[in-house]
Amino acid sequence: MTEPTHAEAHEGALGSRLNWLRAAVLGANDGIVSTAGLVVGVAGATDDRSVLLTAGLAGLLAGSMSMAAGEYVSVSTQRDSEKAALALERRELSEEPEAELDELTELLEDRGLSEEVAREAAVQLTERDALKAHARVELGIDPDELTNPWHAAWASFLAFTVGALLPLLAIVLPPVSWRLPVTVASVLVALAGTGWSSARLGSAAPGRAVLRNVAGGALAMGVTYAVGALLGAAGV
Ligand SMILES: [Zn+2]
Repeated sequence: MTEPTHAEAHEGALGSRLNWLRAAVLGANDGIVSTAGLVVGVAGATDDRSVLLTAGLAGLLAGSMSMAAGEYVSVSTQRDSEKAALALERRELSEEPEAELDELTELLEDRGLSEEVAREAAVQLTERDALKAHARVELGIDPDELTNPWHAAWASFLAFTVGALLPLLAIVLPPVSWRLPVTVASVLVALAGTGWSSARLGSAAPGRAVLRNVAGGALAMGVTYAVGALLGAAGV
């Protein structure tokens, strides 16, 4: 096992809020990159504003719903396995409470308590709420705060949508000759922002993250624009 970092050591409300925030930033980042690639590609082929709007909106909805569905499935699966672990723990507690008390004592000793203090703590924790104590110490989960799959799905839907709106508006609002410069510039600035934020929230140095994120977005727009322009020129 590796040593926990400073940020990981503070479990609980602050840690989970940071995780949510980071997930939101990454979701918005996905929305920006995929929608920017889409609308810039279509703009390479056509000047038609209604086509750009239709393509951008379809991309926004398809992306946000696919993100939400993926999040729903993954959080539901995680929740199912956490519930199964809790059910097993509940059964063990009712069938062999003595062994479970010994187990909790050992786990607390592993965390640095002396045998005597660990025993006393295990007895008290078991009297108060045995299942919660085992869930926290043994499984590392809080039975009262399992992640809600609908909340997670809704959050990624919103995050992706907020990100996707930027390139969508940037491509349809300005006059034709300004579309690409406005979209490319605003997307790259936004990606610098999301790269910086996600690095800071993950306690990483932001410089490289910003560079990678901006380069990834520029590459996506460059590739789709080239393909769109080729198809447009070929009259497809
Ligand atoms: Zn146990």
